[in-house]
Amino acid sequence: MTMSKTTKRSVREVRRAALRISDLYGAGETGRLMQGDYAQNARVRRAIQDRHRRYGKHIDAAGMFHASDGSTWKVPFGVRLCLRKTLVNGQITVQYPWAVTWVSPKTNKRLRKRFATPYAAFDFIATRVQYVDPRVAIISRSVGYDIPATLRNKIPLPWRWCPRCMTARRFRAIIPELHFFALRKEWNAEKQRYDWNERKLREMRCEFCGCTNRDPKMRRSNQPWTIRKFKPGVRRARRRKKR
Ligand SMILES: [Zn+2]
Repeated sequence: MTMSKTTKRSVREVRRAALRISDLYGAGETGRLMQGDYAQNARVRRAIQDRHRRYGKHIDAAGMFHASDGSTWKVPFGVRLCLRKTLVNGQITVQYPWAVTWVSPKTNKRLRKRFATPYAAFDFIATRVQYVDPRVAIISRSVGYDIPATLRNKIPLPWRWCPRCMTARRFRAIIPELHFFALRKEWNAEKQRYDWNERKLREMRCEFCGCTNRDPKMRRSNQPWTIRKFKPGVRRARRRKKR
């Protein structure tokens, strides 16, 4: 009787242990990458997507996150929009795709702590860090997010969309100055339309996450967004003639 109980329990324990998401990692130089073929396994992917979505039930209609101890933290609008999306592969194969960053009032240094889920990150912010630094932020470590459609053209300068912070940030010039060349979308008054021109740009950085304007997602998110209008019956865009 006791024997069978023990056996039952141990089987259940083994099963539960095998399903622990943290056990799937351990590969790569840092041991924080997913091992073997787990990333191709449909059950594993579903479990991770489900775990990602679960933080959502702790956020109310006003965007307040409710932590385990009853404390709350207002999640920025952009962060909420980005986290609604399903995870991409680069977020599934790393153990800690999220981080919380804040400035220590003692040393004045920026600190960072990594998290496996947005829930864990928000809980850490709500219960502890927000009282140390009210400007605490969550960062997407492995994947940058394009600006959500509802926020396009809505962020006033000097603020810009930051793909890693998933919200509006100020980007400041790196000192000493660095430059690079990239295409920039600019209004051409003569042709009455936007043109893409190659320009020498000064490298700017977000102080929260380190993302710079070299990131194509950052640049295209902050370029003027235009809507192409189609006449009735026109099914697809024709490439514009270069004049
Ligand atoms: Zn940032």
